This record gives sequence, C-alpha cells and structure tokens, in this order.
Amino acid sequence: MPVSADFKERIFPHIRKISNHYQTPFHLYDEQGILDTGKRLKEAFKGVEVFREYYAVKALPNPSILKVMQKMDFGFDCSSIAELDLSRQIGATGDDIMFTSNNTGPEEFDAAAADGGCILNLDDISLIGKVPEMPETICFRYNPGERRAGNDIIGTPVESKYGVSHEQITDAYRQAMERGAKKFGLHTMLASNELNYSYMVQTAQMLLGLVEDISKELNISFEFINIGGGLGIPYRPEQDELDLESMGAEISQLFVDFKKKNGYMPGLFMESGRYITGPHGVLVTTVINHKKIYRDYVGVDACMSALMRPGMYDAYHHIDVLDKDNTETRVVDVAGSLCENNDKFAVQRELPICDEGDLIIIHDTGAHGHAMGFNYNGKVRPKELLFTDAGKVKMIRREETLEDLFATLNFDQDNLKIFGSL
Ligand SMILES: *Cc1c(COP(=O)(O)O)cnc(C)c1O
Repeated sequence: MPVSADFKERIFPHIRKISNHYQTPFHLYDEQGILDTGKRLKEAFKGVEVFREYYAVKALPNPSILKVMQKMDFGFDCSSIAELDLSRQIGATGDDIMFTSNNTGPEEFDAAAADGGCILNLDDISLIGKVPEMPETICFRYNPGERRAGNDIIGTPVESKYGVSHEQITDAYRQAMERGAKKFGLHTMLASNELNYSYMVQTAQMLLGLVEDISKELNISFEFINIGGGLGIPYRPEQDELDLESMGAEISQLFVDFKKKNGYMPGLFMESGRYITGPHGVLVTTVINHKKIYRDYVGVDACMSALMRPGMYDAYHHIDVLDKDNTETRVVDVAGSLCENNDKFAVQRELPICDEGDLIIIHDTGAHGHAMGFNYNGKVRPKELLFTDAGKVKMIRREETLEDLFATLNFDQDNLKIFGSL
C-alpha cells in the first residue's frame, strides 16, 4: 500500500482546502504518521538493551522534520557539512550525531569535530592519519566485498566505493587505538529500499560475528554496531510492506545470543531515512494541460525540480486524482514542463480521466523527494508543508524564487590575467 492508509484517511479530505490556501505545487508531510512509524520501530527493537535510530538527514533535510525526530529521541545521520549544520541548528550534539562521509576532506573533519563533535564513522583506513585529532570513540564503515551479494539498487559491495575492506578492518581498529581511540563502533550500509527483512538480519549477524573476531584479536569490546539504513517501503500497490516485527524479533535474538557468549550487549544503531518519512509525504500538483499526440499527456504544474526519482531511476510513485476514485480511466503519461523527456511522474499509467484544475497526488515523496530536486531550466523547487499532530498545517519551507536562483550571479569581480590585458 503506497502512502500510509492513515494519510489517506486523515489528510486527503483536507487537501483541497490546503491547496486553495497555499497554491500548488507543494510537498505535504504527515507528522502523526512519522511519529507512529518511529514508535513501531522502537517497539520492534525493545529486546535490545540500547537501540537508537539516527535519521538519515539527507532524506528530508528540513529542521521542522528533524524536530519531529527529536521528539522520539532519534539521532541524526549526517554525510555533509550542511547536514551537520542543520542538525546542530536544532540542538543536536555529540552522540546525537553520527557522521558517515565518503572521500572525506579536511573541512569535513573540522566540521565534524566542531560544536561538541559527533560520532565519527571513518570510511577508509587511510583516513586514520588524516583525522586532526582522534576522538575517544571511533567507528569504521565496513565493506564485506564478495562476502555479501548486495542489493539491486545499491549494487554489489565489491563495486561499491564505500567502506573499509575485510582485509583492512582489524588493522584499522589497531591503528585507531595507536592514535588514542578507546571506544569502538562498527557500521555498514549495504542495502537500499530493501523489502526483504532477512537481508537486514543477515547484516546484523555479519557485524556481530565481525565484532567477535576483532574483539578477540585486539582484546577490545564494542559500544555499538550500526546496520545502516535501506529499509524499503512498498511504492507499488501490489507490494507487501517490510515485516518490521519479524526483523526486530530476529535481530534482538542475535543480540541476546551475543550477550550469552560474550557477557555484554553492544548497542544497536540504525540510520533509516526512507522508512521513517517516505510514506508520510505526498507531492500535490494541479492539472494544467491535456495533450493528445501519439500518447495522451496530462500536464501538471510541478516538474522534476520537485521530485527526481521517476526520471532518474524510473521509480514508480503511485498517483491518485483527488476525489476521482471511481471515475472512468485512461492510460496517460503525467508530465512536467522541463525540456527533458524524462520529466514525467508516470509513464503509460491508467488513471482516472481528469480535468484541468484537478489535484494530482503523487505518493511517497517523504524521503529523497524535495531533497533531490534540482534547478535545471531555471525551475524552482516547491514549498514544503507539515500537517502537524495537532491538526494544523505549517509551511516549513517556502518555494524558491528567481532571486534565489540568480543569487550566485551576484559577486565581486575576480579576474585572473593569463595574457593580454584585463
Ligand atoms: C542514504 C543513506 C542512508 C539512508 O538510506 P535510506 O534508504 O533512506 O534508509 C543511511 N546511511 C547512509 C550512510 C546513507 O548514505
């Protein structure tokens, strides 16, 4: 079921009023839905002594959304200076933030260490010597290589640019200890939009096994493992949702077994983005044109600047036409206005026949939606609205303006003479 059933029941009846007030296009997020999913996640892992979700900020980098995560005591998974900045703006600090970067530069290390620091997750053994000051707690991202098959979207681990190899991993901790690290975590991120929960159970099992091996070799213990994000959501109506409760029960059992064998239980961290907010957002856009050539086109007032996934990955996003559930249907392409033929929200989709002025609701835009939008053709990104758990609608980001787009053309002249005269 795309978009939570709750969203449809609770919010669809108000979308006409919301769009009259704010004007389309906009993304609309459901706070209650996000809170419900967060609660379910915590409940699923109550068998683990210390469990914490670090919300992947890149999925929906808006401070109002990050504050919803704080209500649930979630931390923040950051991969860039901007994401660190956003998390700190709302008061996250130290252990509340995990910094998982790739191809890390010196400015990023400085930003990670600033303002109360964060949990540093190193992506390569060569970076140990480049961290200006080794923090007390250090984590490494592990890449199992051919030991795991990977998943369709993220590719096979052998081809992936992320993480420390199996051959390097023990040495990485040894070198970090030599530089002063005293507490340890182990991280991996191998899946994306994975609906088969067993894959995540295998990942937890792999990391706990590796913790045992490294611990023996170096005589250390581990504070936590982090099994990454990548939990999937059913974008298509015929897909089943991920079995969260079974995943929680099976992973919890692995932790209990680990404790029996080793006398302690490390913490379990997770950094889901899509699973937490994906199904709790929609993109609302208005039908502005109809066109009939070799195919039928429905033209809407949003374009790829608001949602890249269909154009970029051929991703399916379910579509409803508001209040036209039982109308006659037709097969159409739903298109935006970019000079890019992949600027389509749906291709050859059977949809209720709609009129100009009808509202089209594109499901599951609560993660990797607005955040991925771009400005090609000078198209601006739309506003973001939050339907709060108190039944209010708040604008949490305004629409971009042309001044925003042209801001980088405003600068002090800076020319360099190579030959001739300036
Ligand atoms: C993108 C990303 C995530 C979140 O992925 P989802 O598919 O949204 O759960 C988590 N961790 C890292 C390191 C990432 O790059």
